Amino acid sequence: MALRGILLDIEGTILPKAYVTEVLFPYAQKHLATYLHAHREDHTVRRWAALCQETIAKESGTQLAYEDVAGTLTQWILSDRKHQGLKALQGMIWEEGYRRGVFAPRLYDDVVPALRRWRQGHLHLAIYSSGSEQAQRLLFEHTTDGDLTSLFSYFFDTGMGSKLEPASYRHIADRLGFTPAEVLFLSDVESELEAAATAGFLTTQVVRPGTEPTTRHSTVSTLNDLLDLHSLFTGSAHPLASPIESRDVS
Ligand SMILES: [Mg+2]
Repeated sequence: MALRGILLDIEGTILPKAYVTEVLFPYAQKHLATYLHAHREDHTVRRWAALCQETIAKESGTQLAYEDVAGTLTQWILSDRKHQGLKALQGMIWEEGYRRGVFAPRLYDDVVPALRRWRQGHLHLAIYSSGSEQAQRLLFEHTTDGDLTSLFSYFFDTGMGSKLEPASYRHIADRLGFTPAEVLFLSDVESELEAAATAGFLTTQVVRPGTEPTTRHSTVSTLNDLLDLHSLFTGSAHPLASPIESRDVS
């Protein structure tokens, strides 16, 4: 079976985690209260805040007013809580930051040449990240290498399901129009690779500085090691053994 597509994680795979923990999260924390106050008449902001207020009420029994919700949400940001309402609000705060030119994410040096090479080889590229689709698009629009959004066919977020559930990867393969075995998933997190492999995806862990290497999947420390996918995928001893049909990767 031919390799048709590559599905990529963002944080810790193609972008240092520090961008999120040291740039994006602190920015959202710093601007959350001001943003909520400034947008108190905005229906979309109120709706996402209400979803957070509902969760707080359920978990703590406390009915927080809209203007008082920022403190708890700041704690949620600190603990990297994956809450739909929080993610949406953070996305809107970041959007403002991107529009103001505050952020310029720098991908690992090996990433953009690899993405371009794979596209030249007619492989389809897609992102799967727990950041919202909107946050992903903003990130790729504003990289230090310019707007990279056109390299990707899809930006999948947790709307497809949890990254730890095999079913999410099956949904993604359906959306891509490929069988799971035609798609290679690249991530730094072993449990995500396990879920993808269970769904039938090819998997490789990208081991960046600080990543705990897995023994259950093949590993690379740079995407340069995946430039020549043809030879990789025809090596019969390779754990990802699967022939790639298109040889026009130049
Ligand atoms: Mg990651």
